[in-house]
Amino acid sequence: MTDNNFRNDRRRLLRGALMGIAAAPIGYMGLRGSNALAQDMPKLSEDDPQAIALNYVHDATEKDDMREPDAVCANCRLYLGSRGDEWGGCTAFPGKAVNTNGWCSAWVRASG
Ligand code: SF4
Repeated sequence: MTDNNFRNDRRRLLRGALMGIAAAPIGYMGLRGSNALAQDMPKLSEDDPQAIALNYVHDATEKDDMREPDAVCANCRLYLGSRGDEWGGCTAFPGKAVNTNGWCSAWVRASG
């Protein structure tokens, strides 16, 4: 590999990395922005086949035998709702709102 090729490859790599860094907040805003519409989204039904597949319930206490004691949608990494919202979006159920006190088997603790 010549010095020129190496420099061009490095430049392309840096450009790609910078584009990725620049695009990340836009993607995040898109996800959060989708929650702005959460109030307009239909509420996920517990009878929805995907909800059944993931054991989703509106009231997490109904699944006390399956979940960690404090696990609810509000502290799940996939929850897109804001603090204080009763319902919010969820990346596991696109286009549907889940209850902040709900739970499903895809629950993952939110960091921080
Ligand atoms: S993935 Fe998380 S936020 Fe979504 S329904 Fe399951 S527990 Fe709730």
